[in-house]
Amino acid sequence: MTYDYDLVVIGAGSGGVRAARMAATYGAKVAIIEEFRVGGTCVIRGCVPKKLYVYASRFHDLFDVASSFGWQVDATFDWATLVANKEKEITRLESGYTANLEKPGVEIIKDRAVVAGPNSVHLVGQGRDLSARYLLIATGGHPYIPHIPGAELAITSNEAFDLPQLPHSILIEGGGYIAVEFATIFAGLGVNTTIIYRGDCILRGFDDDMRRGLEAGLIERGIRLIYQTTIKSMSRQGDDISVNFSDGVTAPFGAVMFATGRTPNVHGLGLDKVGVELTSTGAIKVDAYSQTSVTSIYAVGDVTGRAQLTPVAIREGWYFAETVFNNNKLAVDHSQIPTAVFSDPEIGVIGLTEAEAATHGDIDVYLARFRPMINTLSTRTERMVLKLITEKDGGKVLGCHILGPGAAEMIQLVAIPMGMGATKADFDRTIALHPSAAEELVTFKAPTYTYRNGEKLGG
Ligand code: NDP
Repeated sequence: MTYDYDLVVIGAGSGGVRAARMAATYGAKVAIIEEFRVGGTCVIRGCVPKKLYVYASRFHDLFDVASSFGWQVDATFDWATLVANKEKEITRLESGYTANLEKPGVEIIKDRAVVAGPNSVHLVGQGRDLSARYLLIATGGHPYIPHIPGAELAITSNEAFDLPQLPHSILIEGGGYIAVEFATIFAGLGVNTTIIYRGDCILRGFDDDMRRGLEAGLIERGIRLIYQTTIKSMSRQGDDISVNFSDGVTAPFGAVMFATGRTPNVHGLGLDKVGVELTSTGAIKVDAYSQTSVTSIYAVGDVTGRAQLTPVAIREGWYFAETVFNNNKLAVDHSQIPTAVFSDPEIGVIGLTEAEAATHGDIDVYLARFRPMINTLSTRTERMVLKLITEKDGGKVLGCHILGPGAAEMIQLVAIPMGMGATKADFDRTIALHPSAAEELVTFKAPTYTYRNGEKLGG
């Protein structure tokens, strides 16, 4: 049987681009189909613009401590400049992604694709079919919007980057990554910011010291937190949006944003017709090699619901290409993924939380809390937190959790020794770098407290 292509990829985001590029490098004839912009969520309306906006918002903190270093700053902020410069940068990255695809010979097709069979794809706009030995679905996800009256008045992270102007106030629903990162951004840029979350503390699933530390940091930055409450309905009230809360309160906001999770992009893809199975959460079900229930169809990235993180999608795309086109069967290890929350203060984590580790055997916990050096000349009281969790026997490092400036950069490097199975003794052998925050990780003497048979001792 001959096909038009060896591989057709649907979706030119992080995972799809890497898979297409690597497969083409290994000699495959590859087409990639994208209906929006090359680069996907991460480059166009996710990680990259988010981090740029986080940088913009952090000037607020720097100006706040500037006078303690002798500086007098009279600063004003222009939203339109930030939006325009962001656009320039993501356009540059988009053309870089495009060039990287074209260099090994990947054909880029701008259209909407529907899976028409195990080896065929229909191009909706062009009205023609393509055949391929393998199909790769890398269509990512989109923001989930709760089904409530007036939901259409709210924005999501998709729209937040390109608002015509900053609102005077914003209500953000959700307690996850996007909620706290955008709260940091909007508050830092001078918007009166409120988070509304259905749970009792932001960042469910993170270590409790990170959650409580970030909560305090957000409050110190003037962000209001409303817990155990949801938005019931919304209506237009002049230029504002009137919000009805589940506790019966009604209040106006300049803007409302949903940060209530992301849903895999499977709708309208034709997957049910070819028999591609989905998980209970609506993601594409894949095995360790990203193969779906249809042997010629693979899937990587957010659409598979494994870990909604760019580097994971990239790794899945790469290993798919290795397995299928380089005769090198590789499965991604999803067990130890470093992750960061680019809020203010920032969080970087890897491995088990204290609560998780304590239920899996006897552990020692090393904890440091101190004022980050940049704040010591000012009256700011915020604390940095570094936590190392180790096994009692053998001292293997099970988890590392950092809250404060540079947490993301630190945790990326901690991920290396942890991936190698490092122990507390390995950390101890390392000479400290002074003065730094990270030196705390290699200078812990005795445990701050321990858990024996699940019971916390000391601390
Ligand atoms: P998250 O899953 O992190 O958080 C979703 C939040 O919305 C949770 O607090 C959840 O509550 C709440 N929620 C869900 N459904 C409802 C509902 N119907 N009503 C009210 N609240 C609801 O999703 P995000 O949208 O923040 O981000 C999506 C994913 O994108 C992240 O999980 C992450 O993988 C990725 N991401 C990563 C970033 C990074 O690496 N820095 C940055 C941004 C996104 P509950 O806790 O009770 O479930």
